[in-house]
Order: sequence, then C-alpha cells, then structure tokens
Amino acid sequence: MKFILTGLLFVSLASVAKEKKHREHAAHSHGHAELSIAFDSLLGQVEFKSPAESIVGFEHKATSEKDLQKLATARMDFETNISKYIQFDSTLGCTFEKKSIEMVTGAGDDLHADFVARFDVTCAKPLNGSTIVFDFTSVKKLKDVDATILAGELQLKTEIRKKKTTLEIKN
Ligand SMILES: [Zn+2]
Repeated sequence: MKFILTGLLFVSLASVAKEKKHREHAAHSHGHAELSIAFDSLLGQVEFKSPAESIVGFEHKATSEKDLQKLATARMDFETNISKYIQFDSTLGCTFEKKSIEMVTGAGDDLHADFVARFDVTCAKPLNGSTIVFDFTSVKKLKDVDATILAGELQLKTEIRKKKTTLEIKN
C-alpha cells in the first residue's frame, strides 16, 4: 500500500511540474521582457529578464565560436548600456554594479532560453520624489518591458514600449 501511495504521489507531482513548465513556457513570449527594481533605502537590486532571442538573437545553447561571440557581445552591450536603459535622476548619484548576466537555458528539450541580467545599484540620495527614465529603444527586438519598482513603501508598475518612458517615484 505504501508503495502505491508513493507512486501516486510521484505521478501527481510530476504532472504539477509539467503544468508549471507549460505556464512558464507560455510566459516566455519573444519581444516581451520583465524588469524589477527593488530599493531598500539607498541600495537597490535590478533584475531584467527577457527571452534570449530578443537580446542575443538565438536561444539554443551557444557552442560554436560565432554564437559564443554573439553572446559575449550581447552581455557586454547590456552591461555597458544599463545606465542608458535605466536612467536614475543624475542628482541621486546612482551607480550600477553588475552581479550576473547570463543566458539561462530550459531543461531537456526546452530551447526557449532566457537572458537574465542582475545589477546592484547604490545611490547617494533616496529615490522618492525623483523620476526614472527608461530607454530600451536601441534594443530593436524588444517590443515591451513590464517594469515593477519597489522603493520603500512605494509599489509602481509601468509598461515600457518602444519609446523613452518616464516614471515618477511617488504615490
Ligand atoms: Zn523563445
């Protein structure tokens, strides 16, 4: 009896995992990225996640010299341009520090890899009352970026389309 129960449990867990993967798969839509910015006082964390196709140009595992070069260039470009993509008010004196920029491939036959970039941000002054300008216009394959910003008590959301978008950090 115990064996049967364990078996059933395994089957149902497996189907839950499969469903979850399907949902994530559906969420991965080329041209659509997510950005989250979370600040605790003067220290912030930025996470940008996009289908790799929209940033790197492909989603298979990079093995050839050409693909590795493309990936390296994409990572470097992203790091170089992060302060253009996300422009904090210059009077705040914010600086970005790269934590990681990687291409995350799915498990098994899932070839839909994501491009995930994480940065730490340190500002000299608090964000409240300032504005952030988002500009992803140079990333041609990106259609929109859903951004969530947490700064202390503030929770803001904005959708960044193919133009400069200004967000005021206030209620
Ligand atoms: Zn994909």
